Amino acid sequence: MDRSKLYRRFRTLLIANRGEIACRVIRTARAMGLRTVAVYSEADRDAMHVALADEAVLLGPARARDSYLNAERLIEAARKTGAEAVHPGYGFLSENAEFARACFDAGLVFVGPTAGMMTAMGSKSGSKALMEKAGVPLVPGYHGEAQDDATLAKAADKIGFPILVKASAGGGGRGMRIVRSAAELAPAIVSAKREAKAAFGDDRMLIEKYVDNPRHIEVQVIGDSQGNLLSLFERECTLQRRHQKVIEEAPSPTLNPAQRETVCAAARKAAGAVNYVGAGTIEFVSDGKDVFFIEMNTRLQVEHPVTELITGIDLVEWQLRVAFGEALPLKQDEIRLNGHAVEARVYAENPIKNFMPSVGKLSTWRLPAETGGLRIDAGYREGDAVSPYYDAMLAKMIAWAPTRDVAIDRLNRGLEDSDVRGIVTNIPFLSALITHPKVRTNAIDTGFIERELAALTSTAPAPGELELCAAAAAIVNDERQAAQGEANSPWQTFGWMPVGRRQRSFAFRVGHGPEQEISLNYGSGPSTLLIGERELAFTVAPKGGGFDLTLDGVKSSVAAVIDGHELYLRTRNGRFDLHWVDPFGGETEEQAGADKIAAPLPGTVVAVLAEEGAKLEKGAPILTLEVMKMEQTLRAPYAGVLKSIKCKVGDIVQEGTELAVVEASGE
Ligand code: ADP
Ligand code: ADP
Ligand code: MG
Repeated sequence: MDRSKLYRRFRTLLIANRGEIACRVIRTARAMGLRTVAVYSEADRDAMHVALADEAVLLGPARARDSYLNAERLIEAARKTGAEAVHPGYGFLSENAEFARACFDAGLVFVGPTAGMMTAMGSKSGSKALMEKAGVPLVPGYHGEAQDDATLAKAADKIGFPILVKASAGGGGRGMRIVRSAAELAPAIVSAKREAKAAFGDDRMLIEKYVDNPRHIEVQVIGDSQGNLLSLFERECTLQRRHQKVIEEAPSPTLNPAQRETVCAAARKAAGAVNYVGAGTIEFVSDGKDVFFIEMNTRLQVEHPVTELITGIDLVEWQLRVAFGEALPLKQDEIRLNGHAVEARVYAENPIKNFMPSVGKLSTWRLPAETGGLRIDAGYREGDAVSPYYDAMLAKMIAWAPTRDVAIDRLNRGLEDSDVRGIVTNIPFLSALITHPKVRTNAIDTGFIERELAALTSTAPAPGELELCAAAAAIVNDERQAAQGEANSPWQTFGWMPVGRRQRSFAFRVGHGPEQEISLNYGSGPSTLLIGERELAFTVAPKGGGFDLTLDGVKSSVAAVIDGHELYLRTRNGRFDLHWVDPFGGETEEQAGADKIAAPLPGTVVAVLAEEGAKLEKGAPILTLEVMKMEQTLRAPYAGVLKSIKCKVGDIVQEGTELAVVEASGE
């Protein structure tokens, strides 16, 4: 086909995606002078990507199937706004050959490879057959057409256990099972097929030798429509959870320059086999010595920023130039590797509760400034809602430095300086992960996170003297700032009052832990804090996001967020979530609230486990909710009688909705 029909200059770009990647693409498109069109679902009316774009089109209801995955609506949106090109981002329709073809048929430039290239590389089996022919090293395995049990069993036997059963159409780590013996094979195939059918509508399987303690190494490639193809070095993405990347870095600390050249040459050969056009990634697993091709992703990857930071190339700019039909601006020997970059994926999830997704409003969203080698690609702003409909990734934090050690330190500092409230994030987990001594020395494999989970999710240390003082100071500082401008407020003259000595007491606790008390002495003379017998002189100097607390002559920076009676503090000792026990009766009301059986998150009722009128033991299951594919069972908070059930199976309930009433048995 004449490639000028596929790739040509355009002025208006529609971004068929949401979240951080939509925002990131808009930024570069705008810088190149293009007009940008966002698309959104009903759940995303107020989303950041909608605000950033020049124009925005509503696609439909929240469900991805009705909005971001609806090819017809997307093409109609392009027509309506005069968009001439479509950037698919990643996820959603980015690797859907039919969508690429539909764009072409509608006269739109698809920013990516042709539908034909996607089809050739889209199935893991098909691409492995191609790579085999091109002489790219593969993991030993079976990727044939025949799918009957006997053929698969024979193939597994020949490869030798352990093996990996993988959905040929798979992605995101789904439809994959490790099988360690012949006896486990049949049930593993059945369940992998079921998952693959549901997720991808295609249950064809391939079998691979399972590389023990593997590393994931991948190479960024990009080709233009004039026959030029470049590799832009490799990324190491070995830190994974359930086959999903968590931390990525470039270059790989595992490879020496000769190995680097070998893997990059293999990647060029792989992409060259289909005369690839656009940005793509060739993924390999490695046993630490050799690399084996596993798949190609025919799109921009989540972790592309680490490559951008070590090469100085804006990959979205290059994608757009390739889509314009231009030649790539550099030759292979002009691509330079400079320094080291590390990326962390910030998710709305709770690592302590089995990484349960967290949804709600981002009441606080403070990320550090993008200076000193730090880059932040975010898809959310303070006040935005995180809905349960889409991927839980909120942002990516990326740090560059001349060396790997400094890049890790910068990234960690960036994570530590971030404050997010209203939902739970994996930020403390990411921090623990990248500072782990074995990550530091690169003594890792893809199973590392699972093995070290306990250490990586251990809860924060108990609050000490500094934290109690900081908590009291945070409340006083907050009240003083609220009172500013209010004449005669006692806090305006906080620290020096002409009315004699006064005392105010505070009590704090962490979770259901014991209450810890601290008193503030103020009035004439300097204010002091009193913990037990110990009296400490202190001063507070407010600054953005918190204050400097000088305690016993040592000044230290405290970040503080107060949300009703919940205090979030960051001190030099780490992060602390404290509950302020209100002396004015707030507590009794709160205890009543805690006993209500209410939805902790928006979700769907999937099971009702007790009948009205039933006598319940404390902890007896009442109903099960499903929230973003995770099930959570709500239980009786105390022994009693189930007075009423206020929902039924299939109900979609909002956070805080009362679902059942339990009457305590009168003892
Ligand atoms: P891989 O498919 O090899 O994991 P990536 O690391 O680039 O490649 O991850 C892509 C994944 O990102 C998709 O499979 C999907 O789960 C997730 N995703 C899709 N769309 C979005 C989005 N808009 N924001 C955040 N994550 C997304
Ligand atoms: P997906 O499309 O879900 O990204 P991949 O084939 O890229 O599927 O595999 C996802 C992850 O699973 C890889 O990053 C790697 O950690 C692991 N993996 C894949 N194939 C193998 C293998 N043969 N041996 C060991 N681990 C593997
Ligand atoms: Mg992959």
